[in-house]
Amino acid sequence: MTPLYLDANATEPLRPAAREAVLAALDLLGNPSSVHAAGRAARQMLEQARRRIAERFGTSPQEVVFTSGATEANALALHSLGQRRRILAGATEHPAILRAVPGIVTVPVLPDGQVDVAALAAALAEGPPALVCLMAANNETGVLHPLEEIAPLCRKHDALLHVDAVQVAGRLPLDLAALGADSLALSAHKLGGPKGAGALLLRRGLDLSALFTGGGQERGRRGGTEALPAIAGFAAAVAELDLAEGQKLAALRDGIEEGARAIVVGAGAPRLPNTSCLLLPGAPAETQVIALDLAGVQVSAGAACSSGKVTASPVLQAMGLGADAGCAIRVSLPWNAPPDAAQRFLTAYAEMRRRLGC
Ligand code: PLP
Repeated sequence: MTPLYLDANATEPLRPAAREAVLAALDLLGNPSSVHAAGRAARQMLEQARRRIAERFGTSPQEVVFTSGATEANALALHSLGQRRRILAGATEHPAILRAVPGIVTVPVLPDGQVDVAALAAALAEGPPALVCLMAANNETGVLHPLEEIAPLCRKHDALLHVDAVQVAGRLPLDLAALGADSLALSAHKLGGPKGAGALLLRRGLDLSALFTGGGQERGRRGGTEALPAIAGFAAAVAELDLAEGQKLAALRDGIEEGARAIVVGAGAPRLPNTSCLLLPGAPAETQVIALDLAGVQVSAGAACSSGKVTASPVLQAMGLGADAGCAIRVSLPWNAPPDAAQRFLTAYAEMRRRLGC
């Protein structure tokens, strides 16, 4: 039987339309910055991708800056928009935010994983204008921050709001203008595109200085020849996004949570439709992940760590879970999850629990 892939928050399976777009772009010869016909054809493909992404996520094409992924998009936002500002970030942000620049001040989260809005308001009132960085949805728990409440608070205090929207894009409605954010970070491979492309989307008219100046590409905001195949695949994946997928996944997710009889981390907060963080006190996450993998079910223990080593999740620690922070697995359903995904997961999960005696 083919393994059951339930690690979409690490990376989504490639959508067929994205694959086709990547292959078509690989055969395109020109550099988008060249003035001859081959260059113009590449430029046309690049600008079409830019228009598609801008339109889908609520900004104008000239405010889309292509990057290598969300790590770079977040770093660009923090280095540039954070200049001469205090940087406030939620305690459960991704390392792509928390390690982007030194001196970030973290704002605590409540036990359900949502940012403590009163603590954020107090921090905003305390000092000079800030850059506030909050993820739309957490990659480990799926918990959503109340951004509709936070955006006006930021405006009131002359703060800029940068949103790491990687996990929400394609799963829930996302529109930069409607949200009232100043910038959004996106990643192609988290929505069914290829690895190696992402974007920083800016509010219309917001200035941004480059991290790499190079040849002045991306209107001087990100030097370097654009990775056209990855960007074309990114735009093709965006064009395929269908929020109805989320409803289908929510039904599977609910089936998993009802059948698992485990603690569901963040259950009290609004969450992504595809993500469950299941906690079994006393059962190390790494052991659970390995046992499930042997049974053909691929999940992760908190954030995928580049070293492959699993340690207690800082996200769950920030939510106050203490020693249990090392005992939760993340089940994240991909856009193409099979209809029997919940059943197959639950069978493997019950067998794992029986073997581990937990
Ligand atoms: N932000 C969040 C919330 C993520 O989940 C990830 C990937 O795990 C990233 C940023 C980094 O994205 P990328 O792999 O495109 O650099």
